[in-house]
Amino acid sequence: MIRALGLTISTLALGMLPATAIAQNQIIRVGNLLTDAAAQPSGPATIIVRDGKIAEIRNGSEPVSDANATIIDLSTKTVMPGLIDLHVHLTGDPGGDFWKETTEPAEWGVVVGAKNALVTAKAGFTTVREAGSSQYSAFSLRRGTAEGIIPGPRIIAAGPALAIIGGHGDVSGFTEDVNGLLTSGYSCTGAVECAAKVRKASRAGSEIIKITATGGVLSQQGRGLDAQFTSEEMQSIADTAHSLGLKVMAHAHGARGIEAAARAGIDTIEHGTFADEAALKVMKANGTAMVPTLMAFKGVSERLGKGIYTPVVEDKIRMTMGQVGKAVTMARQMGVPIAFGTDAGVFDHGRNAEELQLMVDAGLTRREAIASATTVAAKMLDMENEIGRIAVGYSADLIAFDGNPLEDVRKLEKIDWVMVRGRIID
Ligand SMILES: [Zn+2]
Repeated sequence: MIRALGLTISTLALGMLPATAIAQNQIIRVGNLLTDAAAQPSGPATIIVRDGKIAEIRNGSEPVSDANATIIDLSTKTVMPGLIDLHVHLTGDPGGDFWKETTEPAEWGVVVGAKNALVTAKAGFTTVREAGSSQYSAFSLRRGTAEGIIPGPRIIAAGPALAIIGGHGDVSGFTEDVNGLLTSGYSCTGAVECAAKVRKASRAGSEIIKITATGGVLSQQGRGLDAQFTSEEMQSIADTAHSLGLKVMAHAHGARGIEAAARAGIDTIEHGTFADEAALKVMKANGTAMVPTLMAFKGVSERLGKGIYTPVVEDKIRMTMGQVGKAVTMARQMGVPIAFGTDAGVFDHGRNAEELQLMVDAGLTRREAIASATTVAAKMLDMENEIGRIAVGYSADLIAFDGNPLEDVRKLEKIDWVMVRGRIID
């Protein structure tokens, strides 16, 4: 073996092969490998990564002779696929000061987002869906992590969300003059204008259309949490997005808003707080998934009553708290797909993995919770052949930590090492 190594080095030294012809291998020694949420940890293994992809997986830890390779020793750690969060707001941090919209330019979101991208990746999240940012800041961030200029997860970005005029996601709470100045340009009225806004978002770079189908908890509008778009508007948004090859994610709390969004063919319901049996039946029939974001409510409850939120927001929080998690329990019983998403940005980025235990508390098995953040989330992104598992040809999105998450999902709250697309995050 030593001779083989020597031969490789001398061959290179003599310049007999152009360096570009030799792909640099990263050889990862793994203590305990969990390739898939449906599998059991299989003990020691060796993963060979080349050009950002998983090139080979070998059982056991026998040495690999490759003098040109980088060796990464994770022989005391469990390694599994990187986690996926389908609902984050990287370009923002938690806080109740809604007036900051008047003082912070959209570009500032890129700076905040660069910080949060690193924190999120270090927490074990190698892919995130950006669920709404100020103007186009998430698109720059997406390019930054894709090109490796800033460390962070793969980003699937919505960009600005579509909202009704004055509804959740639009600007409210200021004088009308100021509201008009601050609006993102993505509010719409009627099927025709809403279709136009979907096309505009697509042209600007949206990879997923985000809409606020119902009222929301943290905005200044005070007319409850039920449907804001009409059924015709939602139908138009879903049909237009699908015609462009884009999915739609709908923020929705109230039951009738959830039901209307699912009926319109919207792909995922975000929060889904007050989903009742009728709404969940339509979700099941349409293959609509729920993205619970239980961490959002945990984060908000930690800030309640401290003068952080305005009275109109505090009222909506108190109206919601008793309900949190009930719809998730019912959705699971009824066979509605549940995919992992947290609403990070409403709480501090980096705490995303705490959602897993909240899902288990709501009735998911540990294995189901882990699948929701890997294979199930990958499928929601139509990326199930690229991410969410450790398999040959898949992106080298890997995390390492101590212990077995199938016995305790909280093991995933402390991640020791992360690789995104073959790049080590440090
Ligand atoms: Zn959100």
